[in-house]
Parts: sequence; C-alpha cells; structure tokens
Amino acid sequence: MFKEYNQNNVFAKIIRKEISTQIIYENNHALAFYDIAPQTPIHILVIPKGYYIDVEDFCANSTPQEAYEFNQCVMESLKIIKLSRDGDTYSGFRVISNAREDGGQEVPHYHIHILGGKRLSKMLND
Ligand code: 5GP
Repeated sequence: MFKEYNQNNVFAKIIRKEISTQIIYENNHALAFYDIAPQTPIHILVIPKGYYIDVEDFCANSTPQEAYEFNQCVMESLKIIKLSRDGDTYSGFRVISNAREDGGQEVPHYHIHILGGKRLSKMLND
C-alpha cells in the first residue's frame, strides 16, 4: 500500500480541479484548503501540488522551490486563518502529518493538518 503514487486519490483530484474545495491559499507549488471533516474549530490541510505520497517522499524528492513554496503556503495560510504568531486570537495550534498505514494516513498524497481554534488536549490517546 502507498508504494506508488495513485493519481486517483482525492487530493490529486482537488489539485486538478476535478473536485471543488474551499481554497484558503495557493501558489505555484502548494495548496491550502479546509478539511471536509474538521476535528477542531479550525482544521486545514496544506499539500504540495507535486505528486508526493507522504512526508518522507516529499523531504527526499521535492525541489528546493517546491519546499520553499510549501512553507510559504503554510505561513500565508496561518495568517489567513488567524493562527499566526502575529494574530491575537489563539495562542497556538498543532501540525500533524500521518504517514502510511501505522501512521493512520488515509489519503496517499502528502499533507499536513493544521489544527487549532481552541486549547487542544494531549496529542495522543494511545
Ligand atoms: P489523513 O488521515 O490521510 O491524514 O487525512 C486525510 C484528511 O483528508 C481527513 O482529515 C479527511 O477529512 C480529509 N478529506 C478527505 N477527503 C476530502 C475531500 O474530498 N475534501 C477535503 N477538503 N478534505 C478531505
């Protein structure tokens, strides 16, 4: 499972605009949008537009420009959703990236979850 990139995964369809979603920010190499099933009051996903399976794949194989623009997408999205350090609404948030089966990854396209909008409980239950 997840050994080769599956071009039919839902995030690939979002990148190709085959599925619509509420976009927060995008640049040439990355896209941020709201999670369809939010786990916290603010729950967004940031993905590279390149076809990378997980964080390991992205860190190993992305170009410097892709990595730069992914980071830029995170920073700009944090400002838009008012979770950035400059904001005064919430004093923090959590970033999670699930990888492969034991990591609980469901969509096999690299993404980070940014979760916030309330004081979060301890990170793991198990
Ligand atoms: P994972 O479990 O792979 O780390 O997270 C996948 C996330 O993608 C889940 O939080 C799920 O709610 C979200 N998701 C799945 N399908 C869609 C979709 O079609 N649109 C959006 N916006 N989010 C989705």
